[in-house]
Amino acid sequence: MSWKTYIDEQLNVRRNTPLWRKRKVIKQSDGRFLITTSGEKYLNFSGNDYLGISQHTDVIKAWQQGADEYGVGSAGSGHITGFTQAHAQLEQHLAEWLGYDNALLFSSGYSANQGVISALLEKNDAIIADKLCHASLMEAAILSPATLWRFLHNSSDSLSQRLNKTSANKTFVVTEGVFSMDGDQAPLTEIATISRQHEAWLMVDDAHGIGVLGKEGRGSCDEAGIKPEILVVTFGKAFGVSGAAVLCNASTAAFFEQYARHLIYSTSIPPAQAIALNTALNVIKQADNEREYLQQLIHTFRQGVISLPVKLLPSATAIQPLIIGDEQLCQTLSDYLQSKGLWVKAIFPPTVPPQSARLRITLTTRHHLSDIKLLIETLHAFFNQNR
Ligand SMILES: *Cc1c(COP(=O)(O)O)cnc(C)c1O
Repeated sequence: MSWKTYIDEQLNVRRNTPLWRKRKVIKQSDGRFLITTSGEKYLNFSGNDYLGISQHTDVIKAWQQGADEYGVGSAGSGHITGFTQAHAQLEQHLAEWLGYDNALLFSSGYSANQGVISALLEKNDAIIADKLCHASLMEAAILSPATLWRFLHNSSDSLSQRLNKTSANKTFVVTEGVFSMDGDQAPLTEIATISRQHEAWLMVDDAHGIGVLGKEGRGSCDEAGIKPEILVVTFGKAFGVSGAAVLCNASTAAFFEQYARHLIYSTSIPPAQAIALNTALNVIKQADNEREYLQQLIHTFRQGVISLPVKLLPSATAIQPLIIGDEQLCQTLSDYLQSKGLWVKAIFPPTVPPQSARLRITLTTRHHLSDIKLLIETLHAFFNQNR
């Protein structure tokens, strides 16, 4: 088969379906509004900047000062010349905040997950992951020589059953604090207990819990009172920046320094970004009022949509999906909201399970209460009109 035939065939599978993916150029964004290149302005309900930190003046200033001090790039892997005092301070600050010996910076959550799983897992090991784990975790697990098993979403019984059956050499349990497409939270206390009983290590990816949940925003594990062997936090969501860190004990950190290829063979984040992240961390620690305000927005939203003829998932987080099911209806609803100035992206399989197309609505402290009310009214108007 020629490459052209292959590419054209694959494109035809998706063309003219709601699954066709297309990026849209954004001209400007302030967390609350998006402005497109054609000048249209939308209220944004699709971002992950839950605390509005991407626009925080102190964080912006810290990045600028960092660039003045260090230049714009790190100019190397951390193992060569890319590990500066700015990186070291951020790692130490993160480790202290989250109660671990060490933190190791990665350039993204995607590469942190790949780095951890590819370094730790060997043939004859088992990875036991929640069915709804993020694509970056699933891909790492599929590429790994270890055997991958998936347990039913948030079911500690299903996890127990699988652990009872496994005869692997080493066993690694993987879940998320807050699920990215559902907004619900894993039963972490139970999962940690069960994992320990089986001498399995637990990895928690807390991309959407860090900054939002727990004391000082320390995330899902703090809230659940657990300390998994491996905690991954990412900085592209509530931190409002980009990048990630892996938290672990000292010997495991030394092991990753030797064996995590995504750490060794990749340019470290710019020092200025590390400085901005350090400031973002200070902002997050002090953001109790913002977290409380976010909860108020979440409560208002949930009260407002409870009577809609769609499924509302049990979520106490900034991710509030409405499960529509039918892909065409979901796209029509997303288009309708867009025509009313509301930016809410539809999410389709295979990103989510079959028959569960949804609007992934996210809330941020940048929103005003009136924005949430407008969204609620517009949703009701759509369903009244389409009854
Ligand atoms: C967004 C996300 C990632 C990827 O993090 P990036 O820093 O954007 O690469 C990993 N895991 C989960 C659960 C996520 O939601």
